[in-house]
Amino acid sequence: MKFKYTNKLFSKKPYVNNTNEFFIKAMRENAIFQYENCSDYQRICDKASFNPYEIKNDKDIENLPIIPTAYLKTHQMISKNRALITATSSGTSGKKSVIKFDFPSLWRGLKMVIKVCQFHKLLSIKRTNYILFSYKPHKANNTAITKTATGSTLFAPSESKTYALTFVKGEYKLDLNKLKEKLIVLSKKKKRIRTIGFPAYTYFLLRMMKEEGIFLKFRKGSKVTIGGGWKQFYADEVNKEDFYKLVKEVLDIDECNIVEYFSAVEHPVLYTDCPNHHFHVPVYSKVIIRNPHDFKPVKNGEIGLLNLLTPMLANVPILSIMTDDLAILHEECTCGIKRPWVEIIGRVGLTDIKTCAAGAEELLKGENK
Ligand SMILES: [Zn+2]
Repeated sequence: MKFKYTNKLFSKKPYVNNTNEFFIKAMRENAIFQYENCSDYQRICDKASFNPYEIKNDKDIENLPIIPTAYLKTHQMISKNRALITATSSGTSGKKSVIKFDFPSLWRGLKMVIKVCQFHKLLSIKRTNYILFSYKPHKANNTAITKTATGSTLFAPSESKTYALTFVKGEYKLDLNKLKEKLIVLSKKKKRIRTIGFPAYTYFLLRMMKEEGIFLKFRKGSKVTIGGGWKQFYADEVNKEDFYKLVKEVLDIDECNIVEYFSAVEHPVLYTDCPNHHFHVPVYSKVIIRNPHDFKPVKNGEIGLLNLLTPMLANVPILSIMTDDLAILHEECTCGIKRPWVEIIGRVGLTDIKTCAAGAEELLKGENK
């Protein structure tokens, strides 16, 4: 079987130990597949004198050619065209990464999501009213964020779904008032609610409700789940403690029921925060933090560029991607999970580092005639 170790890896529970050997073998089989099926990836490996057949330890994994996400936005790299799902990043500049999932890749992803959600107790059989701070699905919208937000409504059976962004006359319109009215109606019913989506929109709505003196109470077990990042809203970026307080004040939902997700189109691994709101790295991936100047790995606790690795996907060579986010990898957490956790710092004011990431992209461009 082609992805024997990869399939085994994605059958494991998210935070167990002693999976490193599987991870290395899974990365090796994936790297070989990409090398044999994607001429761009083969060229990049050859140029870097990297031989995927020789992958055998952590050092080799570290040395895998890193593909910058910026590069994927302008170059479509494909190793297997047949796919069940195509997802694109939500790129504001019009440039988008296109990532395809064949059935086995999607199946691995689904197993991962179920295992992660089981661990974090996000699956429930209780009927739930969903409030989605996200796009209502529309055939013109292929973004991963839409697909994942809608997919998240499968975690508990849906009683109703209300979207913040609906497609009107060819474009998406944000309607927070509609959500406010809906929340007031739902607060009188006996069902749980679960909100899903952009933290900034969630924050704007709750702040608006607080200013209007609207304070609601929701049934125990209701959850506020956030994902999709704060980064589009740097100017309004809110201290997380203030956000948790606001949720408690306006919706009467405790901090332990506020859950944050992190993922990326180019790295579709699901990171879910622990009770200390830390994103532990599950067994399905590896995080390396690199010095922005020479791309060498830095020590845990030091800041650098975020490099994300996973063997999940067959269709596109995204085994090791470099984001332009800065992050820190930490070892200790009191929650009981014995795996490192990643703190994402963001990109604010990082012109010199951006230049470095762009430089890496330039290097790859030279390889692609
Ligand atoms: Zn933790």
